[in-house]
Amino acid sequence: MPRPKKKRKVDFPPKMLGFKPFGIRFCETEHIIMQYEEYETVKLVIYDDLSQGDAADKMEVSRPTLTRIYNSALKKIGQAFVEGKSILIKGGDFEFEKDWYKCKTCFKLIAGVENNLKCDDCSSGDTNELVNLNE
Ligand SMILES: [Zn+2]
Repeated sequence: MPRPKKKRKVDFPPKMLGFKPFGIRFCETEHIIMQYEEYETVKLVIYDDLSQGDAADKMEVSRPTLTRIYNSALKKIGQAFVEGKSILIKGGDFEFEKDWYKCKTCFKLIAGVENNLKCDDCSSGDTNELVNLNE
């Protein structure tokens, strides 16, 4: 029986849902989809300065898997950068350590359901105004 594929660990979701180039017409069909675990490798290796081995440990994947995800992420960033395409961060085969939500009004990240699914910052107070990032 094949071993069930383990989910990659992602610590914090990104602040944004994606990136848009400016000085170029925004085209809905020209997104590049970056998966959450791809974002995470860029964060760990480039931003946090971890070795790829340490990043692999953090995400609970093998070193070759980490390298593959990381290279894919860099390829997408390069493509978006050169071709002027936007990047949408979504999907993937990952799990957060906590349940994360994003307020639709002020875009604040909120962890956990103990917050009653309300945003304290902009008092929108409407449960519909939070996006569940774990889905
Ligand atoms: Zn808010």
